[in-house]
Amino acid sequence: MSKTKISVVVPIYNEAESIQELYKRLTATLTQISPTYELLFIDDGSTDNSLGLLKDLKNSDKNVRIIKFTRNFGQQSAVLAGFRHCKGDIIVQLDADLQNPPEEIPKLIEKLNEGFDLVSGIRKKRQDSFLRKICSSFLIFLISKLMGKKIDLDISSFRVMNRGVVKKINECKDKSRFLSALVSWLGVSSAQVEVEHAK
Ligand code: UDP
Ligand code: MG
Repeated sequence: MSKTKISVVVPIYNEAESIQELYKRLTATLTQISPTYELLFIDDGSTDNSLGLLKDLKNSDKNVRIIKFTRNFGQQSAVLAGFRHCKGDIIVQLDADLQNPPEEIPKLIEKLNEGFDLVSGIRKKRQDSFLRKICSSFLIFLISKLMGKKIDLDISSFRVMNRGVVKKINECKDKSRFLSALVSWLGVSSAQVEVEHAK
């Protein structure tokens, strides 16, 4: 078990249905790999009971932190706020809807510890609708052409980074609204790991 502090950054928009299971699975995974970690949830103006559930978790667990937005600003803004406020040496970004299995965090961190600055999850069996996949692939294709940098069409928002990468993202004034492109543009040493993708 390493002493490195891990921060898990999770954007939350109307995720009342998954928050408790997500918390249980994240806690079960993180207690196995690090004695010090934080779960940083960013409530992006949810209109369901997400914030209430997060507050209950925070009251019973000192590892839980919350950032609350006044309204819905979108996933990328929520994640970027998380990056600005997280305190860990290793930062994990994952979605709250359990499409990214928390149990795969150790696999990504293991790869990072081989000496990479950033490890991205690649969804080989992506469980989204045909239309969603086509639109997403087209957007990534377009952005990678404009940037002149290759981005894997199966790249996901499930990734782990060291503190240096998050520092670079935080210092970036002209922030892309599309983090997969921004992290690729930074040119840090990166690797990819195949991850499961739930429906
Ligand atoms: N999310 C957010 N703000 C939004 C929309 C989504 O913070 O306006 C969060 C959401 O709660 C989830 C993550 O961003 O944790 C990904 O959202 P979603 O599952 O809707 O995206 P997709 O799976 O389609 O990429
Ligand atoms: Mg999703």
